[in-house]
Amino acid sequence: MATPIGNLGDMVPRALEVLQQADWVAAEDTRHSGRLLAHFNIDTPLLPYHDHSDAKQASRILDLLAGGADIALISDAGTPLISDPGYRLVRAARQAGVEIVPVPGPCAAIVALSAAGLPSDRFTFEGFPPAKPGQRRKLLEALTSEPRTLIFYEAPHRVLATLEDMAVIFGREREAVLARELTKTHETVIQATLAELVEMVRADANQQRGEIVLVVRGADADGADDTEQRRVLELLMAELPVKQAAALAAKITGGSKNQLYQLALTLKSR
Ligand code: SAM
Repeated sequence: MATPIGNLGDMVPRALEVLQQADWVAAEDTRHSGRLLAHFNIDTPLLPYHDHSDAKQASRILDLLAGGADIALISDAGTPLISDPGYRLVRAARQAGVEIVPVPGPCAAIVALSAAGLPSDRFTFEGFPPAKPGQRRKLLEALTSEPRTLIFYEAPHRVLATLEDMAVIFGREREAVLARELTKTHETVIQATLAELVEMVRADANQQRGEIVLVVRGADADGADDTEQRRVLELLMAELPVKQAAALAAKITGGSKNQLYQLALTLKSR
């Protein structure tokens, strides 16, 4: 069941009822969730649960369920299983024939999408990009022609590096939204191009604080231009030094020399 992502006013009445009536609350961090329960005067006992919990802990929960206990599964914030623990437990419980009842509530990805003003008819949730630059760039490259709106979670100390990579790989003009501290006092939702977001975040350390969702417009149908630029660049890079390949690719495709140079460096570092 979901819990708020910041604003406790978002705790839905049904969630409170379920927490109150459950025999146990399985939580990612029992101290953190203990404070949430105390805030609402709920004294249901807590059990720790992570997807990497040892098998003993998971089987203890499954045994309790098999014995007829009602267990509410929560994570630190938002919806469990969404970049949070729960998948293994829900799967194992379902396989054991336990009834799973979802209790919906906030999920940062959907909250961000609902405020972003980017196409929302089709979207893909990518969770946290890899922390290692090489792996992150590889993932972004695999997504460069994805037409659906892209949603990422990102840690504040990595948001600038990720936006920089996105500007190079998706293109500086690609539209995106930085959604920070949603539902909280310092809630900020900024819509701009990736290049503008890089500048903004670089210039203002406050934009590198708190909890962050990045929503990026998918590749346009005519985003084939990007693909063509990349194809030409890769062909030239096989024969020429990076700088020359980028300069020539810019001439052939009419693209920006600087952007193609940055892209060439990224491709080379793979
Ligand atoms: N399960 C949660 C959900 O339903 O959104 C997500 C858990 S994940 C470990 C935490 C990440 O979600 C944060 O690093 C951030 O990217 C995003 N997030 C959570 N709360 C947020 C908020 N209030 N504002 C912006 N992003 C948030």
